[in-house]
Amino acid sequence: MTDDSKKNGKLVIISGPSGVGKSTICGRVVKALDAFLSVSATTRFKGDSEVDGQNYWFLTTEEFESRIQQNEFLEYAKVFENYYGTPRQPVDDAVAAGRVVILEIDVQGALQVKKQRPEAVMVFILPPRKEVLEKRIDGRGRGEDAETKKRRLETAAAEIASAWQHYDHMVVNDDLDQAVQEVIDVIEGKIEDKI
Ligand code: ADP
Ligand code: 5GP
Repeated sequence: MTDDSKKNGKLVIISGPSGVGKSTICGRVVKALDAFLSVSATTRFKGDSEVDGQNYWFLTTEEFESRIQQNEFLEYAKVFENYYGTPRQPVDDAVAAGRVVILEIDVQGALQVKKQRPEAVMVFILPPRKEVLEKRIDGRGRGEDAETKKRRLETAAAEIASAWQHYDHMVVNDDLDQAVQEVIDVIEGKIEDKI
C-alpha cells in the first residue's frame, strides 16, 4: 500500500465534436482505469438508444434552471440551444475519494472548469477526416433529423479551431484502440506535450 491511495484524484476533461467517438473512448478509459464518469444533465431530446441517468440526466428547462439557481453545476453551457451541465457534488466526491474523474463536456464548459480547477487535464478528440464525422453521427442511432446533423457538423469546425488554443492534448480517433491508449497515457502523465 502506497500513499497514492490517499491522494486527491485527477480531473480529466474530454471534448471533441459530436460523433468523433468521445463516449466510446470514455467508456473504454473508464473500464481500463476504474475511473468515475460524470453523468451530465441536459434539456435536449433523449435519443432512441439513450437511458436517463446513464447517458444523461434528461431534465426540463425549468428543472435545469432551478438547479442553476441552486448552484448545483460545476459548469453549464448552452450547446445547440439546449442546456448541458455537470452536477458538482458527484465530481467533488469522486475527486476527494482519489478517483480519476472524467468530464465529457464541450469547449465552453471546459474553459469554465479550467478556470476553477487549473490542474484539470484537457484532452480534445479529433476525427481523422471531416467526412468520417458525418458517418459516425449516423452510426450513433439517435434518429436525428438532417438539420440537427448539419448544425453539429458546422459547430465541429469552430470547436476544432478553438481547441488548438486551449487544450493541452489533441488525440486523433482513427484507430480506436490507439486513441484509447493515447488518452490513458495522457491521464497517466506519460505524454506531456501537445502534438
Ligand atoms: P460522441 O460521443 O463523440 O458523439 P460516439 O462515441 O457516440 O461519439 O461515437 C459515434 C459513432 O462512431 C459510434 O457509432 C461509435 O461506435 C463510432 N466510433 C467511435 N470511434 C470509432 C473509431 N475509432 N472507428 C470507427 N468508428 C468509431
Ligand atoms: P450530445 O448532444 O452530442 O450528447 O452532446 C453535445 C455536446 O454537448 C458535446 O460537445 C458534449 O461534449 C457536450 N456536453 C455534454 N455534456 C456536457 C456538460 O455537462 N457540459 C457541457 N458544457 N457540455 C456538455
